[in-house]
Amino acid sequence: MMKNDQPLKQCQMIIFSAQNHDRQFFDKINRQQFTTQGFILSYYKASLTKTSVNLAQGSDAVCIFVNDQLDGSILKQLSELGVRAVLLRCAGFDNIDLQAAKKLGLFVARVPEYSPGSVAEHTIALIMTLTRHIHRTDRRVREGNFALDGLLGKTVQGKTVGIIGTGKIGLMTARILKGFGCHLLGYDTTQTSSFREIGHYVELDTLLSQADIVSLHCPLIKSTHHLINEKTLAHMKRGAMLVNTSRGEIVDTSAIITALKSQQLGGFAIDVYEREAPLFFRDHSSEIIDDEVFQCLISFPNVIMTGHQGFFTEEALSEIVTVTLQNLQCFAESRLCQNVLE
Ligand code: NAD
Repeated sequence: MMKNDQPLKQCQMIIFSAQNHDRQFFDKINRQQFTTQGFILSYYKASLTKTSVNLAQGSDAVCIFVNDQLDGSILKQLSELGVRAVLLRCAGFDNIDLQAAKKLGLFVARVPEYSPGSVAEHTIALIMTLTRHIHRTDRRVREGNFALDGLLGKTVQGKTVGIIGTGKIGLMTARILKGFGCHLLGYDTTQTSSFREIGHYVELDTLLSQADIVSLHCPLIKSTHHLINEKTLAHMKRGAMLVNTSRGEIVDTSAIITALKSQQLGGFAIDVYEREAPLFFRDHSSEIIDDEVFQCLISFPNVIMTGHQGFFTEEALSEIVTVTLQNLQCFAESRLCQNVLE
């Protein structure tokens, strides 16, 4: 995307929204694999916002995560501060205005693939937890309550599962579910022979009306924003379960609440949430969470939520950090980078 006329000697990168595990993995992999490059890394817990952007002063690159929002004005500020590269340590890139970045000549790269099995396995964990009420039984057992009332489950075996987005994570999820003995339906704007080997592609409406479990694995783009809404929820099989480990905004959460109340929707298992940015990745346990949608959602016994941790395995973190530093290396050495976003 950008032309680096001068290869940088000691490239400095600021890592925003940095958690302890980010520092641990970046420091270790930088020390072990990138000694000759001598990357200088610094960490800020703060998200990259209009207020925190000045922290990037003097830095060649910034590294951001899923909830750092880089609109045109923040990108402009970054550019004015001398930043020349934005490294996304994630696959999704719905949080950056790529056109604005291109106009400013910024190098933007992501980690397109890292351990799709991590997110796929988390999807399966959510499905199994909800179908067998593990979240509720765990709480009961800790209080010495071994009653089974309300814990009657269903098998996943033999059920029809609809996979929306049959890319890397969707395909991996489908393959695991095939092993469970599920019938698989897929909906995707690009169809693959790998999915066809294990399932059938159908139109979205057909998938929604036939699936006992619908699992979302498409990216968040204009056409998928609120893909699951009042209308599409009405097309779903009554009592079916919806699983979302992709991006919160693919689902209209208010419509979900209505569908849960009417029991049109039988269960909702999510790792991502439409309004996750002010909540996720931080401890709010001593605060009042001022989000009525969230409060309402977690009051349902047939809703489970994890805090965007599908990617959070040792394997995935190692890959994310290694590829992010490889992308930084390409930028610093003005080399072609296959993970550049344009
Ligand atoms: P991918 O690019 O391999 O697959 C996405 C698939 O969605 C593609 O096959 C694409 O054709 C399809 N698609 C695009 N538009 C569509 C539409 N309108 N309707 C249906 N399908 C459509 O991506 P992936 O690696 O499988 O990741 C999928 C998503 O998972 C990412 O976009 C990201 O949002 C999310 N993700 C979440 C976590 C987590 O921790 N929960 C981690 C990584 C990725």
